[in-house]
Amino acid sequence: FRRSSIFFDQSALEPVELEDHEEEDEGDYRPVADGIEGCIGNTPLIKIRSLSEATGCIILAKVEFLNGAGQSPKDRVALNMIREAEEKGLLVPHRGDTIYEGTVGSTGISIAALARALGYKAHICMPDDQSKEKSDLLHHLGATVERVPVAPITSPDHFVNLARRRAKEHTESSADSSRGFFADQFESEANFRAHVKTTGPEIYAQAEGRVDAFVAGAGTGGTLSGIAKYLKEDRSLSKLRVVLADPQGSGLYNRVKHGVMYSSTEREGTRRRTQVDTIVEGIGINRITDNFEAGRELVDDAARVTDEQACRMARWLVENDGIFAGSSSAVNCVAAVATALSLPKGSRVVTILADSGTRHLSKFWKHVAEMGLEEEEHQDLLTTLGLQQ
Ligand code: PMP
Repeated sequence: FRRSSIFFDQSALEPVELEDHEEEDEGDYRPVADGIEGCIGNTPLIKIRSLSEATGCIILAKVEFLNGAGQSPKDRVALNMIREAEEKGLLVPHRGDTIYEGTVGSTGISIAALARALGYKAHICMPDDQSKEKSDLLHHLGATVERVPVAPITSPDHFVNLARRRAKEHTESSADSSRGFFADQFESEANFRAHVKTTGPEIYAQAEGRVDAFVAGAGTGGTLSGIAKYLKEDRSLSKLRVVLADPQGSGLYNRVKHGVMYSSTEREGTRRRTQVDTIVEGIGINRITDNFEAGRELVDDAARVTDEQACRMARWLVENDGIFAGSSSAVNCVAAVATALSLPKGSRVVTILADSGTRHLSKFWKHVAEMGLEEEEHQDLLTTLGLQQ
């Protein structure tokens, strides 16, 4: 355990000295954390053995569902958005302030947990097509939840616009000194900065400075942009290959490949889809966000992953590695394998396990079960995924 990268310890902002790695003072234990927010960051980087063996590369995954408040990388983002708002005086603990956010779930869960810990209330607006586990969890965390029908971003009732409006209404109609704060994860730079400050430095230190490729999907784009920025700009890993992992139906793939934003279905001339046509939750989007654009120039390539490949990967990871992954983690792993196949043997490919399968029992994992993959004869990984070397 490295004490130098505790979240928001100022020393975490300094380049991490690799020599530090040798120093294991006071044993291998984590020191006492001050509250649940002290359990954010410092997640393990694991080698996924079966994927490494199948590709001849070293596939490493940052286990972000081990973040302690909301069990996803969004803990880092929620904490950073709250801290930056506090520094600007936009949020004051125990004043009755409410944090409003539009989210497909993960960010809302982190905000709801941290709001309780840090003296705020949470009001979450989310689309009604997301798994029930996530909205149930938000209720249990004491957040106010508004589930709204899927709508285009131009509609005032899109979940993000609704959250923005609710925050404004709160502040305008407040009879006391309390304020509404719209966290705005899609456009706020506090999002990708959380990964520049913490996830990027952790990956660099844990991989001992040797990363040949970084592969991740994008919802807001904060993870991809923040980590790419840290590794390529702050650490000058100019040869690092940054690859977007994009689920079917998302427009980001074409944004990276061709500089334009259209989804696969639009290409075929069908009506414009606001909803990304995939079973995967959390990544894939059909609009441009500031967090994605912040790092777009640093993204070298994109891999498109079908729902079937994601389901097969999820099943594979359980069977071979005992890893129970969520849907976006499965997409990331498929794209990591595809990327590894294009690199020299022995290359190091880093990706993200964002949330765990427990958050996807009623939708993604139900679908995996319905595909009957358990009964299928065991094939090698590349045949299973339909990827040829
Ligand atoms: N995986 C999951 C499960 C998510 O909820 C999200 C965020 N919506 C992501 C991945 C993508 O993260 P980012 O917003 O940083 O692109």
